[in-house]
Amino acid sequence: MDQLQRLRDRSTRLFGHQPAGVWAAPGRVNLIGEHTDYNDGFVMPFALAEQTLVAATPVDDDRWTVHSTTIGDGETVQFGPQDLVPGMAGWQAYVAGIVWALRAAGHRVGGAELMISSTVPVGAGLSSSAALECSVLTALVDLYELPIDPLDRAILARRCENEFVGAPTGLMDQAASTLCSAGHALFFDCRSYHHQQVPLGLSDAGLELLVLDTRTPHAHVDGEYADRRRICEEAAGLLGVAALRDVADAGGALARLSDPVMRRRVRHVLTENQRVLDARAVMSDGDRTAQQRFAALAPLLDASHASMRDDFEITVPTVDLAVETARESGAIGARMTGGGFGGCIIALVPEGTGDAVADKIADAFAAAGFGAPAHFLGRPSAGARRA
Ligand code: ADP
Ligand code: MG
Repeated sequence: MDQLQRLRDRSTRLFGHQPAGVWAAPGRVNLIGEHTDYNDGFVMPFALAEQTLVAATPVDDDRWTVHSTTIGDGETVQFGPQDLVPGMAGWQAYVAGIVWALRAAGHRVGGAELMISSTVPVGAGLSSSAALECSVLTALVDLYELPIDPLDRAILARRCENEFVGAPTGLMDQAASTLCSAGHALFFDCRSYHHQQVPLGLSDAGLELLVLDTRTPHAHVDGEYADRRRICEEAAGLLGVAALRDVADAGGALARLSDPVMRRRVRHVLTENQRVLDARAVMSDGDRTAQQRFAALAPLLDASHASMRDDFEITVPTVDLAVETARESGAIGARMTGGGFGGCIIALVPEGTGDAVADKIADAFAAAGFGAPAHFLGRPSAGARRA
């Protein structure tokens, strides 16, 4: 039985009637553009087939009854208007925060019964949090007929995560979850919120995209992230620009920075922004075949990885080994994806070889004494919608 039917059945058993509907929102992977978001730059994620589903039914009173089959299973939580206070503990904060954000924006949203299930790996950097937020938001928007377009939905969901849950994230995850379309990546300008669908056509090029979770235990991530953010802000100040995105002459700017660490950090951001623009250009080029487009994209992925490893210094041995092994095993391009210090890598591999490449990486991990990784194929999928 598939995820949708199983969820319908569980919801019907718990609440005693069929749900009014089921809504879906995907996890995402970032094709290219790392640590560019808080520099007001560019990113290019695509939505995964892995998704969070919510079976939802409106209720007459102002109460929300929520059950997740993924986390805290067995526990059904309830909250009312008086509980909508930022800082709420537990996974239900991602649900309550959506109601809170909607109400804070002046939308009239009433109570609901919500049953949630997800195939997005939790805490792997594939944005299960945005998938949860956006699935619940999409359900409530439809049930209560709220006039909110997909970009504003993303902004509301981010508000939930930033202000209610208390996680300081950019807009990429929520934008990917609400705005992506099947078969495409989403070019997204983190300053203007301009966005554009970029066709991928993996299969036309005889390729598939391996997503491999290194399952590296994260350590010191928050401190390292804060450090990178601070140095970027400091550099923007020294260069007299609002954000590193505004640097027009990269060579000139780098020459003006005397601190070698700062220079490397800035070089990553400037070159990574340019790589996202280049990736959009090659993938949107109608004069090239799908194969030629990916042949041009692959070196950008490799260069992105080298830049994260050598200039931004956010990779770790498991990630580097996974990328190197993927390249040696037939990937035409590979990089770490996500904020770094663990998480996932992506690799462009010939169609039908993803599992074999993943096996090679698992062997290399075993030989190096690392724990076993997990993997799946990244299939560019649609954004949040009624299922
Ligand atoms: P990521 O977004 O990379 O998966 P986060 O730490 O941002 O990791 O979000 C993970 C958190 O989101 C979980 O700890 C949990 O609180 C919540 N969450 C995500 N998916 C679900 C789900 N299906 N059911 C309940 N909670 C979920
Ligand atoms: Mg998250």
